[in-house]
Amino acid sequence: MIYLDYNATAPLRPEALDATVATLRSVGNASSMHHAGRDAAERVDLARRQLASLLNCSAGEIVFTSGATEANNLALRAACAGGGALVTTAVEHPAVLEVARAITDATPNALVVLPVDADGNVDLAKLDDALEDAGERGTALVSAMLANNETGVITDLSPVIKAAHAAGALVHTDATQYVGRLPIDLDELDVDLLSLSSHKFGGPQGVGALFVRRSTSLPFHPQMIGGGQERGWRAGTLNVAGIAGLGAAAEAACLKMHEEAARIAALRDTLEAGLLAHVPGCRINGIKASRMPGVTSVTFSGVPADAVLAAMPDVAASDGSACSSGAPSPSHVLLAMGRSREDADSTVRLSLGYATTPRDIERGIEAVAAAVAQVRSSLAADTE
Ligand code: PLP
Repeated sequence: MIYLDYNATAPLRPEALDATVATLRSVGNASSMHHAGRDAAERVDLARRQLASLLNCSAGEIVFTSGATEANNLALRAACAGGGALVTTAVEHPAVLEVARAITDATPNALVVLPVDADGNVDLAKLDDALEDAGERGTALVSAMLANNETGVITDLSPVIKAAHAAGALVHTDATQYVGRLPIDLDELDVDLLSLSSHKFGGPQGVGALFVRRSTSLPFHPQMIGGGQERGWRAGTLNVAGIAGLGAAAEAACLKMHEEAARIAALRDTLEAGLLAHVPGCRINGIKASRMPGVTSVTFSGVPADAVLAAMPDVAASDGSACSSGAPSPSHVLLAMGRSREDADSTVRLSLGYATTPRDIERGIEAVAAAVAQVRSSLAADTE
């Protein structure tokens, strides 16, 4: 199999597998006071330090969760608990957009969704308008993703943070597709809240974290109650093995991150050049924007993406976002970028990562080109 679906989930890194298995073999609840419990708590503390070092924040600013979905829910619900408008963008993952809609549902005009341009860049002028228009109610939170899961387009958060903070709003970023892939420094990036998920950078699935800046005056608003874990932010016995795996993946991802990002970007560029050369009528979404190194979103005009994927069973890729594949609606990200429904339905996402090799790219280009040609010829035969 040629695995080109890192944005859905990355293969488990060997270091993460070892840490997870070793922890599963041990015993102890991180809340227990005896020796076994202290051992589990030490494994959690180590992972907290490993993640803090990846993010350049302090270990005490991390709340472990079951993933980015839970971290996003926690962040948005906490920040908006006291009222105030919520500003977000049209290209967020459903784990932000649907939460934003749910929590502002009962209050008219409490949600502002910022549009993006044809390359997926957020319209900052509209952010200024939204912050100004919030009036007396004020804006509680601006939530903008750091990197888009479908196109890889990176949001330039600095002006967003500056404008939001000047208006007294908190800033949350869903950094799920960025963390562990490009360097991040939370001393520099002045967000108040940041969500991440371990399996996107080679840790196990079902574990993630929310960064909550210590200086942030965030109302305490846990969703899970019934235990004092994670300073009361998230009750329930910790997933110690998953957390240990996350920590090990974070540490491994830190090593040679710049070199790895450059290597992966070069492979992605080769992939795009190969597709553009060998597949007529293909177009790369967000190509003019600043993008993550390891992803490409390619539209094959007039060729349904699900048929392309079915015609290349040896390639693991995704039509639009894997999280929403299976759903009949077209990608809201591509529609927000002004693509037609037909183009959105003809778009394949190929995503690369730490274990992708030049051979994977070579074989991937051949397989995609052959699959698109096969679908095109069977569509042509059907219309004859
Ligand atoms: N946010 C983004 C940008 C994502 O890409 C994903 C998953 O694809 C999530 C949130 C949800 O992550 P999880 O399902 O691990 O909670």
